[in-house]
Amino acid sequence: MRVASIEFKARAGEKLADATLQRNLVRVKGKFAAKRAAAMAGFHDFEGLREAGREIRQRTLDDLDVWLGIFERSATAGGATVLWARTPDDINRLVLEIAFRHGVRKIVKSKSMVSEESSLDRAIEAAGLEVIETDLGEYILQINGYEPPSHLVGPALHKSKEEVADLFHRRHKTARKEGIEDLCLEARAVLREHYLTADMGISGGNFFVAETGSVVLVTNEGNATLATGLPRVHVAISGIEKIVPTLEDAATLLRLLPRSATGQPISNYVDVLTGVRGEGEGGVEHMYYILVDAGRTDVLASEVREALRCIRCGACMNHCPVYQSIGGHPYGWVYPGPIGSILTPMYAGLENAHPLPAASTLCNQCGVVCPVKIPLPDLQRKLRERTFERRLAPWSERAALRLWSWVAARPALYGASMRVVARLLRIWGGRERRIRRLPPGGGWTAGRDLPAPDGRTFREQYAARRRAGGKPR
Ligand code: SF4
Repeated sequence: MRVASIEFKARAGEKLADATLQRNLVRVKGKFAAKRAAAMAGFHDFEGLREAGREIRQRTLDDLDVWLGIFERSATAGGATVLWARTPDDINRLVLEIAFRHGVRKIVKSKSMVSEESSLDRAIEAAGLEVIETDLGEYILQINGYEPPSHLVGPALHKSKEEVADLFHRRHKTARKEGIEDLCLEARAVLREHYLTADMGISGGNFFVAETGSVVLVTNEGNATLATGLPRVHVAISGIEKIVPTLEDAATLLRLLPRSATGQPISNYVDVLTGVRGEGEGGVEHMYYILVDAGRTDVLASEVREALRCIRCGACMNHCPVYQSIGGHPYGWVYPGPIGSILTPMYAGLENAHPLPAASTLCNQCGVVCPVKIPLPDLQRKLRERTFERRLAPWSERAALRLWSWVAARPALYGASMRVVARLLRIWGGRERRIRRLPPGGGWTAGRDLPAPDGRTFREQYAARRRAGGKPR
């Protein structure tokens, strides 16, 4: 498992200095957030729906073993085979065993973040089989040398239309297209051929329904419909946390997911796939579910278990000022943004990813928009505490925090120190009232100026307003 999250700060610095990426990020900045806001405004009780989503996800996680057992029985009754992967390597092994058992040569694949955890595509290619990603974003990344995804919903969001046009021209050896529609048509023509000649389709699973043994797939391109419907074998891979008890629960979550992700009331395609085909029916001959643990039961037993409620909508990253400034790649693994700052340290080890929980302003925008009410900043704070306790942060940072907590525990001393600091910063800001470089290290001001404070602390201003008889604002 290659995890580069420990290099977060250096990689974030590179991305801040990358003019092309910054242009691309500005282009998409706020678009998803605006669409989500419009969808919310047109819904009579979005908060009630969020609460219903939270309740479904939490209730399922509280009895996850029971629901997994029910799912296995239902799926088996429908003719599917349920397999269990304890580790990322197990995913690759199981997929290859299935492929060889059924004489598979070519595999089409719709988006599956779990399969990114095990670098499944590379394992398939190393075994001498052909695999083609069919989600447009994932396809772009695949033909660009397996570039990592940078967003849960739009994996190639960091790329401009021009970059994609150059890539298609180079890889497809066709005339360079200019318009987005032409580029989509070109990709569609290439992919259609693969759907028709593939022996096996691999998908993720937005939800796995316990009562029916079904997998629910949500796409806007219809690629999952083709990838799972045309080949004779279908393998659906997902984390064990994606179980929901009933179809009605799935329907509730389906009202939340696209609205939170792209502002759509419903995505263009929703597939509910159950079992193998019967006599005279359409559908696949062989269906397998691979349910993946790979650290999830440890998360379930931990203080950040609420992170498992995630339905991968991407809203937290669409509203995160850190993600919006650097994109997804500096997070160094499969899951970027606020949810990645919890999942990556939990799945890959805090010692390999401890800068991530600190990559947050704790502004709580992510917590406010999360459709299943995951308290992301609280979870980030818990992992920061573990980072401190395990002495994973640099000694200078730990010493500074110890000093700060010592001062903060003495209100009189804290108040006096803050008065001195506020006045010094006010003077330092000069006539422009901006601080261009702040020691030590200068990290805070490496990429932006710090507005100089007013010169009086919050407490002083509060007391002054009280004395003047005004309401403290
Ligand atoms: S943490 Fe919440 S907002 Fe973020 S991707 Fe998961 S469900 Fe969406």
